[in-house]
Formats: sequence, structure tokens, C-alpha cells
Amino acid sequence: MRPHSCSGCCVCGSYLNPSWLEEDAIFLNDEKWEIRHGQRKVLFLDAKELESKYIDKDMASIWTSFYRLILYDFSKGEFTLTGIGQQFNTTFTAPKDAAKAFAGVPPRDRKDFTKIYDVAPDLSWWNGDLGDDYEKIDLRHLPIGIHMSCWKLAQWKLGPGVAENLELFIAIALRTTFGIISGFRGEGNTWPFNIYEIVAMKNSSCAERGGDIISELWSRNLYELQDRVDYDPSRNPWTQNIIDSSRRIKKQISFAQPLPQSMIPDLPLEIWFEILDFLDCKEVSNLGIALQIAIPDRYWRSRAALNLIEIDEIAEEDLNWHYLCLKFEAVYATGEKFESRRYIVDILSNKIKPTYLQNLGKRDFPRLEEVMGECEDAILRYLHRYDFLD
Ligand SMILES: [Zn+2]
Repeated sequence: MRPHSCSGCCVCGSYLNPSWLEEDAIFLNDEKWEIRHGQRKVLFLDAKELESKYIDKDMASIWTSFYRLILYDFSKGEFTLTGIGQQFNTTFTAPKDAAKAFAGVPPRDRKDFTKIYDVAPDLSWWNGDLGDDYEKIDLRHLPIGIHMSCWKLAQWKLGPGVAENLELFIAIALRTTFGIISGFRGEGNTWPFNIYEIVAMKNSSCAERGGDIISELWSRNLYELQDRVDYDPSRNPWTQNIIDSSRRIKKQISFAQPLPQSMIPDLPLEIWFEILDFLDCKEVSNLGIALQIAIPDRYWRSRAALNLIEIDEIAEEDLNWHYLCLKFEAVYATGEKFESRRYIVDILSNKIKPTYLQNLGKRDFPRLEEVMGECEDAILRYLHRYDFLD
């Protein structure tokens, strides 16, 4: 369900989705989760525990309700990252400690939580939802939202050091995503959009014609989009399935009779591995069969590490790594199960990371406050674009 007023994530641009339906409670089996008189209660837990949870396939899009906030701490004079909160109706709050999380009805009486923000205009100021009576304020008083999962993917793709360079990272992410989303905005479009709308607009030829992208998208793809499920891009339940089956499926027995060594180029194993990385999984398997060599488990594990955010948790297990790679790469490349992941990883790796790395040493990129000001100005120009007609 699309909220009337919604806020976007500064990495993927799709909305932070309010969680107000009873079935959104994904912790019903947790003994600490309280429900009294039919009212949802709150569950406090460690951020790591929530981040490592796979959300059921039939409630998959709940991941969009979990977020962190980027806030300016006036006492420290810097931007900081909060713990994980869950949007409830139109309100936002989060534990101040980045290692903490909550789900459910937001608490209003705890000193270790941020103040309660409202979706408009506190969080949606850069999404165009300012209202006619909006007056400019010091933007450092307003939070920026980022999905819990998008932050997790950012740490994975840019390295854990991204937390120490938070202000730089968010400045680049906000400018990048604001630019992408602004390009999709047409007359009468409300935004932000969900991830499928964004992906479809990105691929739409209509964008090149500068037409009303969203209308065309809706006329062509509405029914298709309704059937699609927005799976968590970080802890995707399909990955969990594939890992589970890799535990059960027996490994193939190695070839007993390798070809004479002279038929195989005499290269160190590491070089072999690098060459194999250029082939897709199936081609590597076929090469193994053709040369009658067993591709070692070590290779498949290193290949899996490129794709799996879970790798540290399973690296020591005796899995069928060959099967895991084959299966994961097949599911990842096709279909919509990993569409969110593909879209977000593309932004992080190809649009944000190069600028981030360039600016780690010598900083040319504007400060986050300046980028926030740019976005606000652009939004105000857009909202007042017809004022000259008055
Ligand atoms: Zn996001």
C-alpha cells in the first residue's frame, strides 16, 4: 500500500514503508514480543539480530519499514547514524545507539531514543513533499532516512570504513539518488516510488523521449508489478533456501583420472581462479568436465564470497559450494527475486563507490549540508515552477 505521504531512502530512492498492518509483526514467535488486547507492542533487540533475520516470503516487503536515521549531533558537531527503527503510521524514531534496534509501536518515553519525527516534512523534505507553507529551516535539524538493508549493503560493498566516513558517503548517496529520482519525476507523479517502478523507469525507453514515464509504466506494467514481490535486498529469503539446500545436497565425486598435467596450462592455482572468475558458473563446470579436473572447493567458496553477504557466517561449513554457486548465480541473474539487490548494488558499486574512493584522500565533494541545501533548492524550484503565471 502506498502511503499518502512518504519518505525515500537516500541510497535506493524507494520509499520507507509504514508498517501498520497486523501481519507486519514478524516477531510473533519471539517470546519478548508482546501483544495485549490486540494492540501491537514493541520489541527491543540488538541491531545485528534484526539485520541477520530472514523475513518470510509472504511478508517480504517488510524490510522497507526498517530504517536508520542520519542525524546531526550539535554537541559533537557531526552527522551520526542511529540504531534501527520501524516506521509506524507516519512517525519515525530510533534508538540513538547504532547497535540497537526496535520493532513495533515506537516508544515515546525513552531517553535513549531520538525525538519522534513526522514523515512530512521532517523526513520527506527532499522527496518533494514540502507543503505550501514550508519555510526554510536549518536542515541540520532534519533527519535523512536509509533502509536498514541498504546500509548493510553499503557496508558490504564499500567496506566497514563507511561508518567512519558517514558524512561523505551520505553526501554522495543523497546527491546521486536525488539526481536519479528527479529524472523520473513527471507532471503529477508522486514520489518516491517503489523499487519496481524505479527499475522499470530506468529501463523504459519512455525516459529517453522525456514523456510521462509513470503513466506509460502503469498502463503497461501495472498488473505485472502487482504480482511482484519486493524481497529484502540484504537478507534475501531465497539465499537462505539455496544455502539450506547446499547443506543437504551431496557433493559430486572428484574425477578419478585426471588428464596428464601437460595438457593443462601450468599456472599457479590463484591465477587459474582469476581466469575462472571471467566465466559464468556453468562454463567453469563444463571446463572442469572437458579437462577432467575437479575444480576445488576452495575456488567455489571464493566465488561464493563475491555474491553472498552471508559468507562470514557460513565460510567454515562443509557445504556443496559448487551447487551453491550454480544455483545462486542462476537465480540472481534472472527473474525478479533479486531485483532490489541488483538495482541497489549497481548504484553502490558503480555510481557511489568510485566517487567515495576518490574523495577518501583529498576531499573535493561538497559537504552533506551543502548537498541537502542543493536538494531543498531544487525541490522548491520545482514546487514553485508555475508561480510566474500568478
Ligand atoms: Zn534503500
